[in-house]
Amino acid sequence: MILELEQNTTPEQKEKLLERLQQMGFRTAVQEEGRITIVHGVDSTVKKELFTALPHVRSITPLSTTSKLVSKASKSGPTIIEVKGKKIGDGNLFIVAGPCSIETREQMEAAAKAAFESGAQALRGGAFKPRTSPYDFQGLGEEGLKILRETADRYGLLAVTEVMDASQIELAAKYADILQIGTRNMQNFSLLKELGKVKNPILLKRGFSATYQDLLMSAEYILSAGNPNVILCERGIRTFETHTRNTLDLNAIPALHEMTHLPVFADPSHGTGLRSLVAPMAKASVAAGADGIMLEIHPDPDKSYSDAQQTIGLEAFAKLVKQMKVIHEAMI
Ligand code: PEP
Ligand code: MN
Repeated sequence: MILELEQNTTPEQKEKLLERLQQMGFRTAVQEEGRITIVHGVDSTVKKELFTALPHVRSITPLSTTSKLVSKASKSGPTIIEVKGKKIGDGNLFIVAGPCSIETREQMEAAAKAAFESGAQALRGGAFKPRTSPYDFQGLGEEGLKILRETADRYGLLAVTEVMDASQIELAAKYADILQIGTRNMQNFSLLKELGKVKNPILLKRGFSATYQDLLMSAEYILSAGNPNVILCERGIRTFETHTRNTLDLNAIPALHEMTHLPVFADPSHGTGLRSLVAPMAKASVAAGADGIMLEIHPDPDKSYSDAQQTIGLEAFAKLVKQMKVIHEAMI
């Protein structure tokens, strides 16, 4: 339900109204200038009349979508996320680059330098890796997070890393600015609820067999639990095609933009699984309107501990960023 407030409502009056709504049993209220969006169950079970008697309420609009807080109707403009002065979703192209896994200080140093020099805003690297085989490299854990933080700081970059379960949130949040939720965990609802309690923005990757609605409902879990800063990320889905690891669903970018105010990123590295396809699909993602691109880069891609086949080298990355910027300029 969206409550539009009377124009002359003072901050104190609004505060009182929020308290009253809480007493009425409404858990979270998202606030914007002049309006309050209330979180509750199915709209049809909550009568509009319940709110008509409240002071300072000019109009009441039910939110008919099931994904309420993420829906475009719930907010007057796009969600712009600001972290340490860097903005996501403000119309500029946000680039996250780095290796699949944090391996060594030297590797991270080289990746961070390349990311910085190309104009990227964030450094990525996994310290807890969701590997298909339990015998594969599982990540460096806290030691890796320290390396990520130090190298990101040296170049003024934000740090992005994946958390695989709720027990890792506190540690990861201590070192990283943005927490990534991987494709395999997109519907780990207890984890999503915990992410609602942290201050860090969440980069939520689409499950490889999840619909847009599934993805939006997962984001809804995080928003309704109190964290409004969610970035959606298209990272490819499983299709009948076996040539590529996944099929990057470019439709998702404009479609999600039509459905939600949240920023939408694309990850052509996992979306293709093949090094030669990463640059073309990254450029296509920019043309499709992605707010940000996530890329796996490495000073010696073939030696990557994980996802070597889809990791691009630093020179190829620098060239790609230049091209993406030209495409992005043309989109404005
Ligand atoms: C990753 O970013 O390295 C990763 C594991 O991503 P995904 O969850 O999309 O497979
Ligand atoms: Mn990877």
